[in-house]
Amino acid sequence: MTLAAYRPRKVPEALVGLFTLALDLRWSWHHGSDVLWRTLDEETWTATRNAWLVLNSVAGDRLEELSREPSFLARYREQMEEHDAFVHARTWYSDQCANALDRGVAFFCMEYGLSESLPLYSGGLGVLAGDYLKAASDLGVPVTAVGLLYQQGYFRQAIGADGEQIELYPYNDPTMLPLSPLRDENDEWVRVVVPLPGRDVRLRAWIGRVGHCDLLLLDSNDPRNEPGDRGITSELYSGDPEKRLQQEMVLGIGGWRLLRTLGRNPSICHINEGHCAFAMLERAFSWAEDNERDFDTARLATRATNLFTTHTSVAAGFDRFPRRLIQLYLGPWLAGQDMSVDELFSLGSAPIDRDESGQPLLNMAWLAVNLSGRINGVSQVHQKVSQTILEPFFPRWPREDIPVEYVTNGVHTPSWDSPESDELWTTACGRDRWRKPMRNASPLDGISDESIWAMRLAQKKRLVHYLRQRLSSQHCDQGPGNNPATACGLLLDSETLTIGFARRFTEYKRPDLLLRDERRLLSLLTNRDRPIQVVLAGKAHPKDRTGKALIRRWKQFSRRPDVEGRVVFIEDYDLGVATQLIQGVDVWLNTPRHPWEACGTSGMKILVNGGLNLSQFDGWWAEAWNNDVGWAIRPGATFEELSHTNDHDEPDSRELFDLLENQVIPAFYNAGQDGRPKEWIDRIRASMNQLTAPFSATRMVRQYVEDFYLPMRALGKQRDSETAHTLVQEARDIASHWPRMRFSGLNVHDKDDQHLYVVDVYLDGVSEQRVQVELVAEASEFGEREVHEMKMVQALEGSAHAWTYQCLVPPRPEGHYTPRVRIRDERLNLPLENPSVLWLK
Ligand SMILES: *Cc1c(COP(=O)(O)O)cnc(C)c1O
Repeated sequence: MTLAAYRPRKVPEALVGLFTLALDLRWSWHHGSDVLWRTLDEETWTATRNAWLVLNSVAGDRLEELSREPSFLARYREQMEEHDAFVHARTWYSDQCANALDRGVAFFCMEYGLSESLPLYSGGLGVLAGDYLKAASDLGVPVTAVGLLYQQGYFRQAIGADGEQIELYPYNDPTMLPLSPLRDENDEWVRVVVPLPGRDVRLRAWIGRVGHCDLLLLDSNDPRNEPGDRGITSELYSGDPEKRLQQEMVLGIGGWRLLRTLGRNPSICHINEGHCAFAMLERAFSWAEDNERDFDTARLATRATNLFTTHTSVAAGFDRFPRRLIQLYLGPWLAGQDMSVDELFSLGSAPIDRDESGQPLLNMAWLAVNLSGRINGVSQVHQKVSQTILEPFFPRWPREDIPVEYVTNGVHTPSWDSPESDELWTTACGRDRWRKPMRNASPLDGISDESIWAMRLAQKKRLVHYLRQRLSSQHCDQGPGNNPATACGLLLDSETLTIGFARRFTEYKRPDLLLRDERRLLSLLTNRDRPIQVVLAGKAHPKDRTGKALIRRWKQFSRRPDVEGRVVFIEDYDLGVATQLIQGVDVWLNTPRHPWEACGTSGMKILVNGGLNLSQFDGWWAEAWNNDVGWAIRPGATFEELSHTNDHDEPDSRELFDLLENQVIPAFYNAGQDGRPKEWIDRIRASMNQLTAPFSATRMVRQYVEDFYLPMRALGKQRDSETAHTLVQEARDIASHWPRMRFSGLNVHDKDDQHLYVVDVYLDGVSEQRVQVELVAEASEFGEREVHEMKMVQALEGSAHAWTYQCLVPPRPEGHYTPRVRIRDERLNLPLENPSVLWLK
């Protein structure tokens, strides 16, 4: 389908290209066209950072005037040429991957954080999705993202006089967001329909351009829908399960239908969190229809190219819906397919998914697992955590074998670097450095201490200036009884060690770790020679009372006269606030309870700008930390069983204070003859050198392409309709024999200081080519975990389909090694696609 150009207002012919520029969200990180928007309407641009709004609100006279002004025209043409060159430029993908992804990747997520001017996100998940999309554009990977266009989005935050959070829901006029209605060649608005009980909901489609990638957004606010349905896409994370289910249906079912309507038919379907699992189901349904096959065949054919990324650290984080809600809402959709509600539950409800009265619940993550060809967590620690929380779903598999891999998250560096650091990196590595792999392992070695320190000072000056502006506009801080000098940040100082803490305020993130010893904190804040100052920001979910209480505590602490304005709380944490904080702070603090931080990304944003991390050894920091690059609380902590205990809060808090007092503060203030802190700058250089590129979204997206999309695509290509059908038949055949398969006669012989295990296996008609016999020892005081393949040595005399297997292993006490049989099939990803396993008891 060719799409019509969107030009809602009159613009002089000489400047029509502004539509193209304003509708490409590339301006949110590229900044080349900033000067155009500022010239058009400085006030609107500064207040909103929304180029589309600027273009639509600037007076016609002003546009006419500028269309005749040579300097503006020159800049405009330069930007148009630059944009044109960008659109046609070769990319990492075009050079390295030769279009191997064919029709590209569909990426599904409930939220997208691309710019503060497009408020379709609440926090980490959305920002990650935004950064992923921008990096995919930089690399030229053909990604179409799918999401929802929320009219109100997530709440906006103000803080009341006593520190209580106030939640505001301003309406976003979608025509003023940097998006266009998706219109077909007849200029008709593209719509798709999703069945709801007794009615259809009509969805309008919008498109956002993110450089080389598209973001498709669905919106139910069609006047022809029932009033209640028009609000399905109003708020993000409202907390109402019924609305949530409606949103997930709109996103998954509506999203896949939209892709089909547009003829995109992507090669890979990547879902970010289980919320979007209905997309995979709809994908299988449409494949079944196209190929006239049953659902099992469709599932097998499509799942090879479905990727499920989980970001959750606790099983309670998985969305689960009660049966009556599923029956009511999904009934009409399933009725048109080859599937009953019972069959859906057998696919997406494990025995542990029960409500209080024992009724089954549909678990969206489990549904996603059963429809995916690969699954990944978002850090090395999170891989283990995910294996643990999925263990009950794979009842006969040990944790280590649960088929979850990991890709550590990364951030879109060009979105987070400051103008000063951009300049520094350009000197060191040239332009376009983030659009391809970074070859140089120590790119900043040629940059002097002086340059690094000058960059830091400039960034901090800007931060202090920004904080003062923000604080002055936070109306409650100007209330009676407040000291305006402290409330407006006049005592903040750009040479003082500045610590930043900004994230969702919720218990496990422990925003109060510093408040556990107020006296100790106070003495750090008010130290005459070596003071610190603290900048905070963050929202608590409207239903999280603990989180709100944590905000109140900090807010009240910051108002104490003896704190002397050295602690400030910035309201309404969003991408705009984050950008300012991560560019200026010296130390970024993160204190989640280990191992609860799936990954964490905010600390990665400071790397490019020369900030340093002081963080719990958890998530990404457990992979990144070493002594040269920053500080870790409880370094080397090993993965512990998941239990939400606060046992470590007290010692972690003490360790944090010790680090600050004995290491961080002295290193920062220990300046040499030249007035610069040598050790600190060495750390900055090490952190920038070692961590910036590895924790970038460019690395992350390349890893998704190389380690997931490409091999998944190759596997998926083998599954044409006929092969998929055969594989399903074979699986059914194996399943019919599996219950009668058995071991017999395990013998262990000594052989050259080793043990020879010999066992007979009765396969009950299953081909010996289709099974793998293994000998497994779990980790113990006798050694690491071991898994050995046992070799078939002979057919067992006198019985058909029985074989003897053996294996030579290092000695362990009796009972430590256990044989098992599992399926062997290169055409499948195992054990995910067939978890059949038989252990010798
Ligand atoms: C980066 C970012 C987050 C996520 O940060 P975490 O370290 O995962 O807490 C959340 N909100 C905003 C606005 C961000 O910019």
